[in-house]
Formats: sequence, structure tokens, C-alpha cells
Amino acid sequence: MNPSYDAVAAIAQHRCEYCRAPELAFNFPFEVEHIIPKSKQGSDSLDNLALACRSCNLHKSNHISIIDPDTQTETTLFNPRQDTWENHFQITSRQEIFGLTAIGRVTVICLNMNNSSQIFARRLWIQWNLFP
Ligand SMILES: [Zn+2]
Repeated sequence: MNPSYDAVAAIAQHRCEYCRAPELAFNFPFEVEHIIPKSKQGSDSLDNLALACRSCNLHKSNHISIIDPDTQTETTLFNPRQDTWENHFQITSRQEIFGLTAIGRVTVICLNMNNSSQIFARRLWIQWNLFP
């Protein structure tokens, strides 16, 4: 396990810092990921580490930005250490995560936050009062 897990999980309150999945509902600890990947000279300091579910971490991979399809502009992904989740995302009545800003929009797309598995799980977490 990443030696920074305890500190990062405490900051994240044991939720995925991207899709807000509750770690409690899983049978394995979430992953400590590098916001700026090590392959792009990201550091191991706490201000560059975030807690992520497997789905978000796999889809984020080494991305730090993607092209926003609405503006055709290279747009940085949500940074949990710099950005406030509520400013960039909201949950719709269909349990989808909606990007309120360009940052939110590209993050939802890049991390595939509204795939059918994510929506199904999110509905269960809501029924169990584990989400949002
Ligand atoms: Zn996630």
C-alpha cells in the first residue's frame, strides 16, 4: 500500500476525490494516485496525491488535460488539491455527474464517470445513504 495512504485517505474522507465513490462500499482500499503523474515529473508530496477509485484511476491514467469537445480547447482535469468539487460538478436527478465548468466537463469525459456501472453503483450508494 502507498505509504501516504493514511494521510491521503484522511484528506479525502475515504471517498474517491473525482467521482465521490464511498470507499466504505468496496472490499479493497482506494488507490493513491498522482494528480500530476510521475511520468510528467509529478511529486510524491501530499499536494500531488489524491484518493481515487479503480475506475477513475484507470481512466485518468497519465492524463492531466484533454480537449474540451465543446470548445476544442486543451483543458486541465479537476485537481482535488486546487479545485473545489462543488464548483465543478453536480449530481443530476438521474444520478449522473454533470460538469458545471470546462474542467468538470472534461473530467467527467476523461474519467468516464457516467458509464453504466458507475450509474448503477451510484444508485445503490444513494439507497444506502453513502452518497453523495
Ligand atoms: Zn472515482
